[in-house]
Amino acid sequence: MSDPTILLIEDEVQIRRLVCKALETDGYRVVESGTLGKGLLQLHGAAPQLLILDLGLPDGDGIAFIRELRSQFTLPVLVLSARSAEGEKIRALDAGADDYLTKPFATGELLARVRAQLRRNPAESATPPTHFRFGEVEVDLAQRRVTRGGAAVHLTPIEYRLLLAMLADPGKVLTYRHLLRAVWGNAHSESNHYLRIYVSHLRQKLEADPTQPEYFLTETGIGYRFQI
Ligand code: CA
Repeated sequence: MSDPTILLIEDEVQIRRLVCKALETDGYRVVESGTLGKGLLQLHGAAPQLLILDLGLPDGDGIAFIRELRSQFTLPVLVLSARSAEGEKIRALDAGADDYLTKPFATGELLARVRAQLRRNPAESATPPTHFRFGEVEVDLAQRRVTRGGAAVHLTPIEYRLLLAMLADPGKVLTYRHLLRAVWGNAHSESNHYLRIYVSHLRQKLEADPTQPEYFLTETGIGYRFQI
């Protein structure tokens, strides 16, 4: 199998060089662009498996770009964003980005996020699995049964819906808004506070150490991520 191709759209030359070098050292083929216009052509031409996207680009807005490409492409999108712009990260995730990294970032962290996204393989998620296993936990979606270490775990309907929403997108950062909608529907009036409560229930019931979660991770100020 050939090396995965990654498209990098970033207008800051120094960051582009740094990211490029790190990715190539790890064996990826990198196609790079300083603008959205050129990046769009490369998206079609190079058929990359992953897009790393800066949000502030000279010829347009990265968030609008994500929204547009989502009508045609399913590849994972990893956003590079400025530290101060938490609202921007949330908008990017709601537009269809899968993960974000805050500048400045360590290249080791970037490479770990890249590996996690490439593992997700969107082609496979088209046919959802009926079984999930993480740690000692097994989820049988057909039977609506959850066990931990072989023993049945009782989840309330809300906890179960939240679990399903998180399992549906392992590795993806899920915003509060996304999860509230997934669990309570479009007309939800619940606040982020409810999510914190129910995520803590899931941790109590499914994590080995609820205070040091391995699977149900907090993305501070943004939402949660199910890490498998
Ligand atoms: Ca920029």
